[in-house]
Amino acid sequence: MKKWSILLVVLLLTLTRVCLSSTIDSSLCIKLENKNNSTYNKNKMIYPIYVYGSKVLREVAVDITDGYPNLGDLLSSMFYTMYSSEGVGLAAPQIGESIRVFTIGLPLEVADGEPPKMLEKVFINPQIYSYSDSVCTSPEGCLSLPGLSSDVVRPTTIKIRYCDENFVEHDDTFTGFFARVIQHEYDHLEGIVYTDRVSSELKVSLESDLSSMLKGDFSSEYKTIQDLDDLP
Ligand SMILES: [Zn+2]
Repeated sequence: MKKWSILLVVLLLTLTRVCLSSTIDSSLCIKLENKNNSTYNKNKMIYPIYVYGSKVLREVAVDITDGYPNLGDLLSSMFYTMYSSEGVGLAAPQIGESIRVFTIGLPLEVADGEPPKMLEKVFINPQIYSYSDSVCTSPEGCLSLPGLSSDVVRPTTIKIRYCDENFVEHDDTFTGFFARVIQHEYDHLEGIVYTDRVSSELKVSLESDLSSMLKGDFSSEYKTIQDLDDLP
């Protein structure tokens, strides 16, 4: 019985790698050392991150149109802000912009000796239109909730329509860690933070930290802002 359990785990891991590999083939994969040539390296700045309790994190963000002013600069700065704070995803509401835009930058698995690779993607006006019945549980953290993390149950696979940075439409399937990060960032566009999805049992252990955060009592190693005065 134990042997079959091990085989099942190996099979699941293999399937996960296959699914991830199909995503890895994306033309958006870039080498870390080529990042200086990335489009996301011009006119960049580091934004302060809006922290839990800020009104903008509870708003439903709005779609943008092609021709949104200074979109290239905004995206460059979002990537720069995300990497500077060691995040793997950043949604526009986290920098105070209530628009339906998020970025992800994830390290990809490479063979021994190969240079590191990143998957960088921009999601504009995304719509997740399908969720798998299968779910998985994994710990999550958030730049808007510094210092906290907790297990969250999410569907393993999603289907999503979105525009990229050139407003070209895509319809893709993501699974595993990519699907989790995308769902987390997508939630920000809906005014949801991951602690809203934590089980009531686990949330008890977060309550003290969350109420401290609402009073502005938190610390982080990156620049933050909290518009508590705007709380209803
Ligand atoms: Zn977040």
